[in-house]
Amino acid sequence: MRRSLICFFALALLCAGVARSQTAAQSSATVAVIRAGTLIDGTSDKPRKNQLIFVRGGRIEKVTDTSAAIPEGANVIDLSNATVLPGLIDSHTHIFLWGEDPAKGGYDANILKAGIALRAARATYAAKRALEQGFTTLRDVETEGAGYGDVGIKQAIEEGTIPGPRIFASTRAISTTGGYNLEGYAPELDMPKGAQLIDGPVQARKAAREQLDHGADWLKVYMTHRSWVDKQGNLVSQPTLTVEELKAIVDEAHGWGKKVACHAYNGIGLQRALDGGCDSIEHGLEITDAQIAQMQRQGTWYCPTLSPYYDDWAPEDTPAGKRDRARAMVHEISFRKALKAHLKIVYGTDIGGIPWTEPLAQEFRRMVTLGMGPMDAIQSATSRAAEMLDMRGEIGVIAPGAYAEVIAVAGDPLKDVGELERVRFVMQNGVVFKNEIAK
Ligand SMILES: [Zn+2]
Repeated sequence: MRRSLICFFALALLCAGVARSQTAAQSSATVAVIRAGTLIDGTSDKPRKNQLIFVRGGRIEKVTDTSAAIPEGANVIDLSNATVLPGLIDSHTHIFLWGEDPAKGGYDANILKAGIALRAARATYAAKRALEQGFTTLRDVETEGAGYGDVGIKQAIEEGTIPGPRIFASTRAISTTGGYNLEGYAPELDMPKGAQLIDGPVQARKAAREQLDHGADWLKVYMTHRSWVDKQGNLVSQPTLTVEELKAIVDEAHGWGKKVACHAYNGIGLQRALDGGCDSIEHGLEITDAQIAQMQRQGTWYCPTLSPYYDDWAPEDTPAGKRDRARAMVHEISFRKALKAHLKIVYGTDIGGIPWTEPLAQEFRRMVTLGMGPMDAIQSATSRAAEMLDMRGEIGVIAPGAYAEVIAVAGDPLKDVGELERVRFVMQNGVVFKNEIAK
């Protein structure tokens, strides 16, 4: 009896295996052809009209003009009245943050009151939101107290259990004692923290090793924490890790072939971030000319995340209100300097700090308003981000060999970059996830 049962199961498994491989063979033989009215391919300076994109086995096979023959039986997707682009990349997100609404307890409630299952459910929602808005890749820069939850969400997406973008996870993030929330509670209480706190290069290296061991694709380090305005009206930021502590982390990450993203506003902490060899500067609110030159020399990526600093300012006559205005003012200057110096700017919203119900594409408007060309802004969210993520030619581009991650909007994003807030078509790995383009 037992043996026949085993035989039965073995046969069933064999059949399932055959069925699966047949499906795989069929899908690799099936060609989808996208008719693109206008194509912005992620790397070219100019769009191209009337292109055909051939998709096979989840990858782009070729891109041609309309004279190429469409094979019989091909699945033709008509986007001839639309602008077609590569799937977008947001290089600064937090799927485990929920907007930090002060009326609902702000940041602290997210850690103190939401259980891990609730947080995972919200992260699942965030992942779906990103994908349906055309963001097919996220560099998610830390879970804010949700441990290694981002690695779990990434696994669930990869195995097809939930919809979502490709995720580069950075797990817990690293800061120092006095360098991260939760804070302001009675000193007797051992409060949970939104990042892994270290003191000294030995602890720094150990934290890096732990996070890499548990699946971090990137490491995230907080190089500044509190910020305020001094008596002269200057923005000041409290530095956190020393150069020695940061160097231990960067050295460890680079040894694993991974990179380090550094949250750094300005001043001492930003200087230590550059001296310690950070691969990307996050926010970079106030960057001096010497620091711009150092970033050029070192090839440092700049992810400015403009969006969170231009809305929801505290009242003007309060310390927080003064700080909020000072941040936005210096940030604009730094962003314009970075543009002029041709720093490698990548697109990041810091969504999660902003509610996930808001559009991820809002950063495009901010970038263009502050002087960036629309095509440059699009490339910051496509091919340039792909290069930072060591995925050049595979994502952020519509070209032979790349993953078939294709989106479309109805209008012209080079005329109105806000069009990217209304993505109507999303293809992920050759499969149509959403199609709202009128036939
Ligand atoms: Zn952030």
